[in-house]
Amino acid sequence: MSEAELHVLKARLQGGILNKARRGELPTPLPVGLGYTALHQPGLDPDRQVQDSLRCLFATFQRTGSALAIVKAFRQHGLQFPRRLKKGPHKGELVWGALTHSRALQVLHNPRYAGAFVYGRTGTRKLVDGGQTWRKRPRDQWILLPDMHPGYIPWEQFEANQRRLRENAQAQGPDRRKSPPREGPALLQGLVLCGVCGSRMTVRYHCRGTRPVPDYVCQKASIEHGRPLCQRLNGEAIDQAISALLLETMTPLALDVAVAVQQELQARQAEVDRLRRTHVERARYDADLAQRRYLQVDPANRLVAETLEADWNSKLRALQDAQGEYERLRHADRGAVTDAHRARLTAVATEFPRLWQDPRTPAREKKRMVRLLLEDVTLLKREQMLVQVRFKGGALKSLALPLPLGAPLLRKTPAVVVRAVDRLLDQHTETEIATLLNQQGLRSGTGQAFTPMAVLNIRRHYGLRDRFQRLRAQGLLTTAEMAARLGIVRCMVRQWRDKGLLRAHPYNDKGQCLYEPPAAELPGKFKKKRPYLREKAIPPRICQRSAV
Ligand SMILES: [Zn+2]
Repeated sequence: MSEAELHVLKARLQGGILNKARRGELPTPLPVGLGYTALHQPGLDPDRQVQDSLRCLFATFQRTGSALAIVKAFRQHGLQFPRRLKKGPHKGELVWGALTHSRALQVLHNPRYAGAFVYGRTGTRKLVDGGQTWRKRPRDQWILLPDMHPGYIPWEQFEANQRRLRENAQAQGPDRRKSPPREGPALLQGLVLCGVCGSRMTVRYHCRGTRPVPDYVCQKASIEHGRPLCQRLNGEAIDQAISALLLETMTPLALDVAVAVQQELQARQAEVDRLRRTHVERARYDADLAQRRYLQVDPANRLVAETLEADWNSKLRALQDAQGEYERLRHADRGAVTDAHRARLTAVATEFPRLWQDPRTPAREKKRMVRLLLEDVTLLKREQMLVQVRFKGGALKSLALPLPLGAPLLRKTPAVVVRAVDRLLDQHTETEIATLLNQQGLRSGTGQAFTPMAVLNIRRHYGLRDRFQRLRAQGLLTTAEMAARLGIVRCMVRQWRDKGLLRAHPYNDKGQCLYEPPAAELPGKFKKKRPYLREKAIPPRICQRSAV
């Protein structure tokens, strides 16, 4: 049978299959939960448990609208999901296991569960090495015939589910497995590996103020099996450390050392090259010898001549191989560092920090630079954040970074400020303290200037004694107490204070004061002038805030 005949036959067969598929009559393998009846019609699997599992899956999706939620629900209730073995000695048997995310998605995306006939969702392609590869085809290339057999959900619900899944996919973003650099500021996007399970980690952002802060998250297994996250690390400190490491590595000095090492290695190359060349020489000698032997033999002696010719041929092949190998290795070793190279490297080393620190350099460009320098970065969260950096070329560098502080601790008032407020309260009111702290250049936990209210809040929060209590503890008197002691009315106390006869200390910003006990000698003229006041004097009130 010729090639052309085979081709025609194949095309006919293919055409027959397609025609049958277009009529919805092509028997294709059915997913678990569906099976062929005795009349070769597709229908629901008679196994009640299988049916219930699928119904539970679709009902959970209708309730929650998320494939991950289905996985979590199955896991939470300890439910198992059926699977039919496709090959092996137990082919066709039903096995039960935990539902995975990818499995749930497969079921949700399969139109056959909605009673539709479908053919051509995937296409196969032959590879050069004889293997096969398959890829998903877009929906408009499928043969899709709705309502062909009983299903678990109506067709409208299938369509609604597809819309829902599409929306979910857009909300979560496409898979970022070693994806090209994007706009976000996470420096190591697509380069981070999890130190716990080895999966590639993804980036999530959270906002601090208006600034997006990256988090590196290992969520692959958690999505697949509905488990908690493997690990999540705040990326800000890691990015800063990597940035510093690159700046430190890319100095002219460091590059000089690298070039020197390279040259040293190349000096040794000459020795290696000489050894390799002797191997080629030996092969050439063997080939020449075989040639001479062949030429010397009598052509009539055909048996010997044939053997010698074969020998000569094999020696020539060996020579060719040796020559090729020698050239290949020599080519691989070439690349001596010339002065031009060195100048270019130095230029890079000087330019790099400038470009790196320039705020106008977009995050995407910085990430491209990182990808040129780093192979990957492995992260592990323990008492510290352990960062293992692998440079292109295999060099390794380990960093240990402290765990970042939580948001409350980041906003906490610095201890030095609390101590300063405590000290200043002996002498000053809250407004004065705020001014003094601002003059000293101190800032609040959120980096803002101090206001009297902020000082008041610090005093209250840290349980510091207020100024009134402090002055009272020093024995200072209220206006009423002073009036009683001097035998005068309270407004007179304030007048005496204003005239400088009494020493007063304000205990708040409203100008309310406490008085130092009067000197033993009181102004005589007032004593004599108004003796009746002594009888009228109001008895001192017990220490009260309102007493002025
Ligand atoms: Zn992990």
